Amino acid sequence: MSSFNILVVEDEDAIREMLVMVLDQANFASIAATDAEEAQKLLDDKIPDLILLDWMLPGISGVEWARRLKKESVYKDIPIILLTARGEEEDKIRGLEIGADDYMTKPFSPKELIARIRAVLRRSGKIQGQAQIILGDLTLDTEQHRLTIGNKQLEVSPTEFRLMHFFMTHADKVYTRTQLLDQVWGRNVYIEERTIDVHIRRLRKILEEHGREDLVQTVRGFGYRFSLAE
Ligand code: CA
Repeated sequence: MSSFNILVVEDEDAIREMLVMVLDQANFASIAATDAEEAQKLLDDKIPDLILLDWMLPGISGVEWARRLKKESVYKDIPIILLTARGEEEDKIRGLEIGADDYMTKPFSPKELIARIRAVLRRSGKIQGQAQIILGDLTLDTEQHRLTIGNKQLEVSPTEFRLMHFFMTHADKVYTRTQLLDQVWGRNVYIEERTIDVHIRRLRKILEEHGREDLVQTVRGFGYRFSLAE
């Protein structure tokens, strides 16, 4: 269960598979590509929360692709961690200069990788500088991926968790289905608007078990609002 999506770009099968496995064990969702071209296609489908990018790739190198991404307004805010087999200080400086958010020299431990990912997500504001978002008696823990009302834990799917994360950080404002699609599912994802209604219905049902279905309000002819006020 995760609210974060990581794009892994690595041409060496063994390393790529290891990265995907490590991310999965740490409750991150991931998608993987073997080169920059394939990664670009994945990016057009969904904007990830972070990119783990191998420096040496066949075709366009990782560092070159990172440089291009940082020049495009749609992609420039995606945090990038460069992975490299070279440990030269000069490379590190070059990597950070082109706009990478961090730089790791292989081999590294899974623990170190996850710690760096969390640190970069936190710095980029994606973890909001805090692991817990608290709103009234609701607590959403982004590291443990737990959502609780009082001391009761709610059983939500990854999508509903993302939706709750968005709602709790954007309370009291009305959002259209299109805005929710962009913010929660990402641009370029083809999902019908009524899919949102399905997820909202499920979320309300879960909240209803705790007598709190009123948190997600329908604003007729416009969209949805999340509010603690009735
Ligand atoms: Ca490589």
